[in-house]
Amino acid sequence: MPLDPAPVHAREEIDPRRSSRDRSWPPAPEPLPHPVIDNHCHLDFADGDTELSVTDHVQRAAEAGIRAQITIGSDMASARWTAALVGSPQCPPTLAGGVALHPNEAALHARGTDHDGQALEPLEQALAEIAALAAGPGIVTVGETGLDWFRTKRGDDRARDAQITAFRMHIALAKELGLPMQIHDRDAHQDVLDVLDADGAPERTVLHCFSGDAEFARECAARGYYLSFAGNVTFGNAQHLREALAAVGLERVLVETDAPFLTPVPYRGRPNSSYLIPHTMATIAEVTGTDLEEACRTIEATTCAVYGWPAA
Ligand SMILES: [Zn+2]
Repeated sequence: MPLDPAPVHAREEIDPRRSSRDRSWPPAPEPLPHPVIDNHCHLDFADGDTELSVTDHVQRAAEAGIRAQITIGSDMASARWTAALVGSPQCPPTLAGGVALHPNEAALHARGTDHDGQALEPLEQALAEIAALAAGPGIVTVGETGLDWFRTKRGDDRARDAQITAFRMHIALAKELGLPMQIHDRDAHQDVLDVLDADGAPERTVLHCFSGDAEFARECAARGYYLSFAGNVTFGNAQHLREALAAVGLERVLVETDAPFLTPVPYRGRPNSSYLIPHTMATIAEVTGTDLEEACRTIEATTCAVYGWPAA
């Protein structure tokens, strides 16, 4: 695989109905006073008026004080792409990967067809391939897996069962490989906790793009889970996220972009990349009443501990 493989997902997949959206890349922010790691982004998605290569994303991140990135592949094509990229000898040492079958993908595999009606391999076969990819070089996490009751509504038992089956398989896989697990939880807080309680969570469990309120944050922290905050913590309508963050403090907190999604304020709606994390870090520092450098230092130390990275 070349160092700069073409993305798996075209930018049109991000905003199929909003072609009038401003696709220009936001300017580079002031670099962070202490480096952090973006523990969840998707370099397999193209976005922007000019396409950035993997090398461009890594370089811009480094210039903004982001010392490493974890890129997540969460459908079969993206998981293969991610494993090949981070397993390549040419991959920058600051780039690592995570693979899993996203809960919404698990539902599609159980149905047998993708959004365009194309045939998909059976769920068991897909999960077996994910397990093989997760064991490969450069993969530092199993994720994102979990439950998504936003897309799969109550009553769709086949899709719900497929999500739960896939989630449980990923829990077992993370434990078997001794890797941290990243959870996608959308409108499924209590059911996510119930599955984790029943099966026993991996030692290092991260709620990626934390979406709960203060009470759920306390429940997660009490179980020893980590809360990863994305750019939506800066959104005007996300007071519940800031309350959640304030409730648990910095101790179990990580930072991510989920790029190209969830671009932080003041660039909400435009393309996102790891180099924009300083805006999210500014909000995290403010909400927790922490000096920015101290906030970066604390989050960096926690991230290194979770993913087994040497400290900066
Ligand atoms: Zn994601």
